[in-house]
Amino acid sequence: MNQRSVLITGAGSGIGLATTELLLLAGWHVLATDRDQAALDRLAERLDNKSDRLILRHMDVTDPDAVAKVALECQALTAPLLALVNSAGIGSSVRFADTTPDMLRRIYEINVIGAFALSQALAPVLRDNGGGSIVHIASVSGLKGNMGRSAYGASKGALVTLTKIMAVELADDLIRVNAIAPGPVETPMVADTHTAVTRQEWHRTVPMRRYGTPDEIASAIAFLVDGRQSSYVTGQILAVDGGFTAAGIMA
Ligand code: NAD
Repeated sequence: MNQRSVLITGAGSGIGLATTELLLLAGWHVLATDRDQAALDRLAERLDNKSDRLILRHMDVTDPDAVAKVALECQALTAPLLALVNSAGIGSSVRFADTTPDMLRRIYEINVIGAFALSQALAPVLRDNGGGSIVHIASVSGLKGNMGRSAYGASKGALVTLTKIMAVELADDLIRVNAIAPGPVETPMVADTHTAVTRQEWHRTVPMRRYGTPDEIASAIAFLVDGRQSSYVTGQILAVDGGFTAAGIMA
């Protein structure tokens, strides 16, 4: 009865990696997927085969064949699949005037259509297993008009709305759908995209005056995937952001 599996995308880095480690500790079987094979290899090394509950799979969420193959594998897991965490994503910081339709398409392809397609492929598996939980990783940039986030923020805003629609439509199948909206979190993505000026601005506008850690996001995800803890929570966007979205004037 206690055997349960979760599929995590973007499991090779940042929030997906921290979630993989936390859910393994919590006793889940984890199907950890990423498009970056080297990151998956590092994960295997890091865990040093300490868990026989970890399966690593190379999967690009924009590749329909790879998604279909993994979905098929999910039907046959010995520990039934009860949860999906869509953490794969890319960031960008480009002003509206400089954002091209191609930039928008590229980011939607991964952040929106990737999460959409995998959720659609796995929803029947969750339903047939008696229900489960899907968690999207949105962003505070999908809730507020952060500078430079026209492509990224629009993609995360789409995920926010998709979360609510999926929650409504999948409730009859006992599938709960929620999203986390992280504020700034110290991950490789942020190391790539945040300049010194951006960092200063986050420290100024986040009431807790610091970036979050991947572990702090992972524990919120762990709550949402666990049907014993969050059984009546669906259609919600949980901001894990040091108070950023709650704040008004700061002085
Ligand atoms: P990260 O770059 O550290 O990790 C993202 C992982 O996703 C990488 O391992 C990458 O290989 C994988 N990935 C990217 N495209 C993929 C694809 N097409 N198919 C499969 N895997 C793919 O980033 P992170 O900061 O851990 O971000 C995780 C999620 O959290 C993203 O959706 C991101 O938008 C969101 N988020 C992050 C922050 C932050 O401050 N770090 C804030 C808000 C939201």
